This record gives sequence, C-alpha cells and structure tokens, in this order.
Amino acid sequence: MTSRDGWSWTKSGGLKQGVPSIGVIQPATIISSTEVFYDVIIVGAGYTGLTAARDASVSGLKVLLLEARDRIGGRSWSSNINGYSFEMGGTWVSWEQPHVWREISRYQMRNDLENSFDFSRGVNHFQLNAAHGTTFMSHEEEDALLVSGLHKFVNVDGAMGRKIIPFPHDTFHNPEARQHDNLSAQDRLNQIAATLSPNERAALEGFMVLCSGSTMSKMSFLEFLHWWALCGYNYQGCIERLITYKFKGGQSSFAIRFFQEALATGNLSYAFNTPIQAIQDKKNMVEATSKSGRKFQAARLISTIPLNVLNTIAFDPPLDPVRKAAADIGHVNQCIKVHAEVTDKDMRSWTGVTYPRNQLFYAIGDGTTPAGNTHIVAFGGDHFHFHPEENVDTTLQTFQNLAPGKLNIQRLVFHNWSKDEFAKGAWFFSPPNLLSTSLDALRERHGNILLASSDWAVGWRSFIDGAIEEGTRAALTVKNELAKSAPQRANL
Ligand code: FAD
Repeated sequence: MTSRDGWSWTKSGGLKQGVPSIGVIQPATIISSTEVFYDVIIVGAGYTGLTAARDASVSGLKVLLLEARDRIGGRSWSSNINGYSFEMGGTWVSWEQPHVWREISRYQMRNDLENSFDFSRGVNHFQLNAAHGTTFMSHEEEDALLVSGLHKFVNVDGAMGRKIIPFPHDTFHNPEARQHDNLSAQDRLNQIAATLSPNERAALEGFMVLCSGSTMSKMSFLEFLHWWALCGYNYQGCIERLITYKFKGGQSSFAIRFFQEALATGNLSYAFNTPIQAIQDKKNMVEATSKSGRKFQAARLISTIPLNVLNTIAFDPPLDPVRKAAADIGHVNQCIKVHAEVTDKDMRSWTGVTYPRNQLFYAIGDGTTPAGNTHIVAFGGDHFHFHPEENVDTTLQTFQNLAPGKLNIQRLVFHNWSKDEFAKGAWFFSPPNLLSTSLDALRERHGNILLASSDWAVGWRSFIDGAIEEGTRAALTVKNELAKSAPQRANL
C-alpha cells in the first residue's frame, strides 16, 4: 500500500509524492455500528497511541483510535521499496531503552535487528569537511576526536554531567539541574571554545546539531546533557544507543505488531484519515470532533498530539496557560533526513560531516540495497534549512557535496517533517528554559483528557522508548480509573 506521506526520486521516474509502506492501514475505518460510546478514545496512532490502544484493548476496554494520516507510526515509519526499508523518521533502538526492549521481547523481534554501520570493507574512513578544510581520518580517529570534544563540552560539574543529572530518567532529580536550563549549546560552547582544536569544534558542533536538528543557539544544553546521561555518560554509549541498531524490516514492521495485537482483542475500533479539530471535556464524558464534523464520545480521551501541533486543537475547557505557552514556543527540531542509493559499493563504510557550509551536514553508510548499491542516510537541520522536494537538483547537489565525486545518486527517499501538518518538526528537542518551566505542566492531565507524548516523557524523551513509556502510563491510568468507576459507567 502507498501512503500519502513521503517522497521519492529516481533518475527515470523523477520526483513522486507518497511511498509504499506496510504501515498503511486498510480498510481505513472499522467502527462497530453498535458501539456509540467508548471507554477511551485515543487520538494519534504513533507509538504513544499504539501502545495505549494495545494496552487498553488488551485490558478489556472498548477503544477507539483516531488518526489523521493513512498509516500507523506517526513520526516513526518506514517505506519498503523493492524489498528494502528506508526509515522516514524514528529508526534506531537499543536494549538500553527499557520500554522499547520490553516490546521487542514481547514480539520476539530480537533477531530482526541489524547494525547500520559496516566498517569491514571499502573506504572505511571519516571525512570532515569543515570551514577550515577537509580532513580524512580513520573511524578510530573520528571516535577519539568526538570523545575529546564531548568530554570538554559535558564536563560542567567535574563529573561528566553525573552530578547535574545523576538519574537519567529524572532530569530534575538534582534541583541544581534547573540552573543549567537557561544555557544553550552555543553558550556552553563559548565557555570551552578556547580549549577546542578546529577539527574538534567542527565535529562537536556537527554532532550537537545532529542531536537537536536545530542550531547551537536554539538548542538546550541541559537536554543534551540528559541524552548524555541516558547514554551512560559516554560517547560509545551515544553511538550504540542513538545510531546503531535498526529493524531489518523497518519501524513499520515493529509498529504493526502493536496494532495487530490490539485488533485481535476485538475491542479496538479505529478511523484513519480522521484529523481531529476539537476535544471537549463534558465532565461526564469527552467528545472529539473531526475536521469533517463527525463526533465521537468516550469516558476518557488520550491525546498523543505532538507539542508543535498541540495548539491546532480547540480544547474545551482550554488548556492551562503554561502548557499553551510551551506549545507556542514548541520544540526546536527541524531535522531533514534524506536517504540516497549510490552506486559506489566502497562508500558503505564511509561517514562524513560537512559543517557548517552544507545543508546536509552529517551522513553515514547505512546499508546495501537489493540492487547492490550503497544506502547513505544524511541529515540536515535548522542551521541551513531547506525543503528537499522543492528543488531536487539542490537536494542532489547538497547530498553530493558531502563527498564530492563519490556519490552517484540513483534514488532519493525522504519525508519533509517541517511541512508535515501533524508534526511540524521532527523529534522533540528542547530550547533553553522550556523543560524547567513546562515539563511538569505538560505531563498534567486535563480533566478526563490525558495528554501523552514522547515529547514530554521523563526517560527517553523524544525517542520511541519515551512514546512507549507515555502510552503505557496513559493506558494504565485510564484502566485503573475506569475499573474503580465501573458501576457509574453503566449509567452513562
Ligand atoms: P507521533 O509519532 O508524532 O504520533 C502522534 C500521532 O498523532 C501521529 O500519528 C499524528 O499523525 C497524529 N495526529 C497529530 N495531529 C492529529 C490530529 N489533529 N488528529 C488526529 N491525529 C493527529 N526516535 C528513536 O527512538 N530513534 C531514532 O532513531 C529516532 N530518529 C528520528 C528521526 C526523525 C526524522 C524523526 C522525525 C523522529 C525520530 N525519532 C527517533 C523520534 C521518534 O520518532 C518519536 O519520538 C516518536 O515516534 C514519537 O511518538 P509519539 O507517538 O509520541 O508521537
């Protein structure tokens, strides 16, 4: 099935909107004609919504899942082209991510993972194109460069960040962390700039903006420190947890398991292609109204709508001012992720950073396609933002600039997250001051409405793991509440 989402380009076919994905759901709607009142409505079929829908329907609740798109997965979905998966959004997972790993175990998918990197053959080097010139180095030298830059960057407390964030799943466990939330990554860089070599600085900045999809000035230093803590306070941990292990069959092969398990209970109704525009808490029930004016009612509603589009929904009563202000500010991630299939097999073991002069600035060899070509994934961000579908020649050129003369591109595949009306950005990355002022408020319930999202998870916030953490929390809350109020519900 082909989704409306995503883009692909080939020399022979040109640019096309919409790519095939096993995440597209057909039939698009299954709503039982007898069920007019649900235990819980879940808005959004990303990992937060899928986890909540699965857990709630498995526990016996009558669930209605409403999704604006034609597919599951939200910001994590894969396209399957000629038997090969291209990840359009969320990709890498790890056994160090507790909620993700619980699900990978549940669906017995341990052996469905593979390693993005393969340094066993080919060019086997790192290419750093910085403002001051180009350097080729071994991957060991690449690691050493980043280790030394990162250690200077994170060492605000003489303990590599461990004193500031001693509990990675609780950013503000040490109240002192709040004092560091006004710092941008640029502020921190300025503090240590004199100690960095030009290459260290270019590699460090490339890595930072890769993490945030933003700019050094707009991204929060504390949020990076939180990632660093989650990654075991070391660079190797970052590489292994953030950018190494992915599903051979793509994220949609994982997401579909949640959906199928929920469906098999017989308790799940759903409607795709159903954008919601209003959510009203009527005290004894919640009502969701779609853009086409259709109304759906339930005892509770779980909204998984991401932060950057939260204010597009008319909540009644209105959301509290702190939460509304946080949604107005939004997260700062405008990552551009573009895949290319290139003919040079030796580039499989290549990695590169071209910062700050190129729109796409960070890339790695990510696989070998069935045609025997090398698959390279590249990232851009807000520091030099562009929309890859607007001018494909520019996109091809910026991709080729990553390794001049080495990238004979046969195919491009991407999703424009910045223009996506149901995300308006990629994974959550906080600007300075947002977490300390708003994280608690974002996690609050709103009457009979629970707001759950990876964007305000406590642990792997902004990751698939955080989405599963949040979906679990929301479904359990609803299950426990409705179990207590069972006699009243019969009278609704
Ligand atoms: P979403 O996936 O955004 O789900 C929310 C759902 O709500 C969507 O399906 C949306 O369509 C729907 N929706 C929105 N508005 C409405 C409306 N009005 N009516 C009805 N439905 C609506 N994470 C990792 O762990 N590893 C990675 O490698 C990684 N890389 C990433 C790369 C990119 C380019 C991106 C974009 C994300 C990446 N992430 C990664 C982050 C991860 O994808 C997200 O954190 C996670 O998928 C968010 O899940 P969610 O369910 O909370 O939100």
